[in-house]
Amino acid sequence: MKDVIIVGGGLKGLLSALFLHDAGLSVMICDRSELGRESSWAGNGLTVANYPWRMDEAVSTLTHYGQQHYPALCERLRAETGIDAQWQKTGLLFPDIQDRALAQHWAALHQQRLLLLEHPSEVKQHEPNISPTIECGLYFPEIGQIRSPRLIAALRASIRSRSILVSEHYPVTQLHVEHGEAKGIYLGDWLFEAKQVILTAGAWTPNLLPEVIKASVSVRAVAAQSILYRGSPHLLQRSIVHNNKYLVPREDGRIICGSVYQTDSFDTSISEQASEDLHQFAVQLLPALSYEPIRDTWSSVFALTPNGIPYIGPHPELAGLSLAIGHGNMSVATSLASARLLADQVLGKTSFTNPSAYHIKSRTLQPSAAW
Ligand SMILES: Cc1cc2nc3c(=O)[nH]c(=O)nc-3n(C[C@H](O)[C@H](O)[C@H](O)COP(=O)(O)OP(=O)(O)OC[C@H]3O[C@@H](n4cnc5c(N)ncnc54)[C@H](O)[C@@H]3O)c2cc1C
Repeated sequence: MKDVIIVGGGLKGLLSALFLHDAGLSVMICDRSELGRESSWAGNGLTVANYPWRMDEAVSTLTHYGQQHYPALCERLRAETGIDAQWQKTGLLFPDIQDRALAQHWAALHQQRLLLLEHPSEVKQHEPNISPTIECGLYFPEIGQIRSPRLIAALRASIRSRSILVSEHYPVTQLHVEHGEAKGIYLGDWLFEAKQVILTAGAWTPNLLPEVIKASVSVRAVAAQSILYRGSPHLLQRSIVHNNKYLVPREDGRIICGSVYQTDSFDTSISEQASEDLHQFAVQLLPALSYEPIRDTWSSVFALTPNGIPYIGPHPELAGLSLAIGHGNMSVATSLASARLLADQVLGKTSFTNPSAYHIKSRTLQPSAAW
């Protein structure tokens, strides 16, 4: 019997496995596919919400933790595995923002440096190739970004080098529940027992919940598509968020443009229209991209809770079961904090913040603009 079985090998599952194994627990992690190849792989690596000052404080607490602790995690993984997850402080630029006062308040509260760019020349100074139609902006120079597929590769290598039991390419078919307590999982006919089960199966998590508690975990699936340009170093220097879409530069000059969303959908087929919409957006912001062909496009699905605050912690009605889901399109940004918070609760340790804000029953589920 293991101490913990984790179902879902995305970022949250991998990081939880790492933290719990670090603490001396025996761990098994299962994924129906290869570890990390779902939504986490698709993440573009923005490490705050698209408009962080419009989110609930509970979400900012998680992204703030990520900003502080991703650099050390990346360094640790690089030393351990040789794989660099490319945490970079490229900064984040928001052109032509209306709710500046709110943004300034958020920046002060979270000790984020913020520059107010009042004139097109100031915007150009920070992003030389940006469209001349952009007249002003807000610039957060200290905000970092991360290369999600590299982070996954590093975590996978770290997990595989440890005495963690890994099951891949086989779906968990159901939870093993005995006397009202989660006591393991089934991989087909095979039962694997554990003292605790953690569900980090992203948008697919509800499929694994016993019928009687399904209604307690309310999430919607959202399919998202992004595109990639080969670009060249320095063509784009900062991440830019504008009109709910964004551009993210990579160290090697690649530029990612995201995302087109489809709510209540598990459809990951590639839409030509979505690629075209993203291309139009990218060219408007960075006219030099009109000469660049789209080199790649991908799509995956994430889960979103009604009020945008993820569920992290024990399930109130089924002992032995914990979960971390519903982090929406901020899942990379919040995964490090989420896994730390989850692991600390499993270990019975005090964590960096009060976990009750993320518990299933401790909040009123008010639908927010995030829907
Ligand atoms: C196009 C796109 C762009 C994004 N950009 C950003 C961004 O810039 N910044 C940001 O913060 N976030 C971003 N996100 C969100 C983020 O990438 C992911 O949503 C997030 O990392 C999800 O992590 P996860 O661990 O919860 O789930 P997942 O990575 O989806 O992992 C869940 C895992 O569970 C497995 N699973 C499911 N069912 C079973 C089963 N029955 N048995 C075993 N295994 C199972 C799946 O195979 C999967 O590997 C983006 C998402 C998309 C799609």
